[in-house]
Amino acid sequence: MFNENDIRPKELMKLKEPALEHDKCFLREKMSSFIYCHCPACKSSSSKLWGEKEGFRYVKCSECNTVYMNPRAPEKILKEFYKQSKNYEFWNKYIYPQTDLVRKEKIFRPRVERLIDLCKKYNVLAGTILEIGSGFGTFCETLAQYNFFNRIIAVEPTPDLANTCKNKGIETIESEIESSLPISEGSMDVIVNFEVIEHLADPNTFVSKASRYLKQGGLFICTCPNGESIGAFLLKENAKFVDHEHLNYFNPTSIKKLLKGHQLEVVEISTPGELDVDLLINYFQDHPDMLKENDFLRFMFSNINETKKSHFQSFIQQNNLSSCMWVVARKD
Ligand SMILES: [Zn+2]
Repeated sequence: MFNENDIRPKELMKLKEPALEHDKCFLREKMSSFIYCHCPACKSSSSKLWGEKEGFRYVKCSECNTVYMNPRAPEKILKEFYKQSKNYEFWNKYIYPQTDLVRKEKIFRPRVERLIDLCKKYNVLAGTILEIGSGFGTFCETLAQYNFFNRIIAVEPTPDLANTCKNKGIETIESEIESSLPISEGSMDVIVNFEVIEHLADPNTFVSKASRYLKQGGLFICTCPNGESIGAFLLKENAKFVDHEHLNYFNPTSIKKLLKGHQLEVVEISTPGELDVDLLINYFQDHPDMLKENDFLRFMFSNINETKKSHFQSFIQQNNLSSCMWVVARKD
């Protein structure tokens, strides 16, 4: 187990507040250009208001319960947003370098091992893997150490990050998946993307392109926030993972619908997250009134000890209630 402070040190998170505020202002100033959309999972136009946070509006699909920002910034504004983001600059300059070792051990090594286990389970035993949105290249770099795949390709649109990947010796395509890539359709054994899909204005185009590059029987594996997690149920828009960058909150049922529309059959969904109880404890420490008002939450969270914490986290994982969802799909 590890806790939130290991990967997001409190003092650094405080220092990044002005950068975060700058980013939110950038988006809020452009709100008159935001556009309304249908549910990104099932395309239904029927939804109810779910919550509002810092000027952004989230609705819940009446058909499949996907929570999504509506209206939202169109593609063009999002591109500008990520280019100018002060928050990303801060993470790149301070948070990632200072937490690099702990992130490698606590996030990337387990992520790589989970991926390899899944590939073995579904009988993909070598071949080529493509990561979309490789960022610093930490996943590809760690994966390479295991010598499991014959070829690892990173796709990263941000020039600085693409260079970081190249400098680490990773085969890198500096592009968006939505553009046409210099690889053949139907040639990839595995396509992975970690915490990408929730940021996209148009997840359907993204999944459709990714699916085209996969071989028949190849695996599409992604992680994303779970819109039906304990955090989302209890805290709704106050949950930490609900923010201005995250436009789509699929759930175990709705992500199946999204992928099925692009020849990807979901074979497994799990929520192996480890931080849910820790995040709730931190939230209730800052908002003690919520415990005063709710007998069950008070019973669960006042004087919670390590054993109870770990039992509760296991319950959350086993019932797909953690905020981090792993989705494994096979190309038809
Ligand atoms: Zn829907």
